[in-house]
Amino acid sequence: PSIFNGITYTPPDAIFELTKKYNADQNAPKVNLGQGTYKDENGNPWILPAVQAAKEKIKDSNHEYLPILGLVSFRTLATELVFGASAAAVREKRVSSCQALSGTGALHVAGKMLYKALGSDATVYITNPSWSNHRQIFESIGFHVEEYTYSSHETNGVDMSSLLKTLNEAAPKSIFVLHASAHNPSGWDPSPEEWKIIGKIMKERQLFPIFDAAYLGITSGDYAKDAVAIRYFAEELALEVAVCLSFAKSMGERVGLCAFVSQSTTAAEAVESTLSQLIRVEISNPPAFGARIVVAVLEDETIAAEWGRNLIAMSSRIAEMRLQLYKELDHREY
Ligand code: PLP
Repeated sequence: PSIFNGITYTPPDAIFELTKKYNADQNAPKVNLGQGTYKDENGNPWILPAVQAAKEKIKDSNHEYLPILGLVSFRTLATELVFGASAAAVREKRVSSCQALSGTGALHVAGKMLYKALGSDATVYITNPSWSNHRQIFESIGFHVEEYTYSSHETNGVDMSSLLKTLNEAAPKSIFVLHASAHNPSGWDPSPEEWKIIGKIMKERQLFPIFDAAYLGITSGDYAKDAVAIRYFAEELALEVAVCLSFAKSMGERVGLCAFVSQSTTAAEAVESTLSQLIRVEISNPPAFGARIVVAVLEDETIAAEWGRNLIAMSSRIAEMRLQLYKELDHREY
């Protein structure tokens, strides 16, 4: 008998299946609303001019192994990008980080790290609805995952009463996966004022936030504005947080950062050494190409400014398309 008899068939991932069907569909015009990646007016991926310029700059770089935690300049620049270069946590060396395989890889490493810190007793709370991978990422690590109603058509936006009730009832040290901006799939985010209320309760009740930051920069076109919740929690509230950053949408490169803010430099050093061990076991060291692209964009004032314009171009076209789609659907009969 096969040793795989106990392995049952796992149905394909719904989002990737939809993309497969979309690619195979010959009926134009067609729109893929499944995968959150930017497309131009012809439905093709857009290689950002900033990324094009960065590629030109790094074309002679080697592909040697990076350190276990990734390219140091990438970690530094990405950390400063998210938290702000003058943030207290950055200045006081309380941020531990590692390069990750895009947002998904960052979430997995963050989960592993928190499992080491808190063990299986901690519950992970995710939003309902949410990105379909959240539950299985944290369950695969060994956590118990709970959902709460995040948005509804009755509230026509974020269901704050459900969110606040869940925060108030969760056991201390519970983990909340929060979408830093552009909540997937609802598109509804708390306002800066609502983030303040959420953060205050999380601090009082000792809850731990993981910011899933897949869409920073392309939500509003302004990176710092999209990072408002992360910065408020880390800076104003001086909370310990995790940030799982992706450049897959904002630069089209599958590279990410897993960052933890701790209360002390000593704790941050311990967290970083643990991240190092987790990465060594999982992938030994990450691929260099995407990280070099991000560095080439961020370290060069001219290319960084171009990237800023590219972010505005993407976010404003997305907003226009959403509005057009809404209007079209609104006039349809179902
Ligand atoms: N988190 C959310 C909310 C997402 O929508 C996605 C991707 O679609 C990810 C994380 C994963 O990011 P990445 O594609 O960089 O792995």
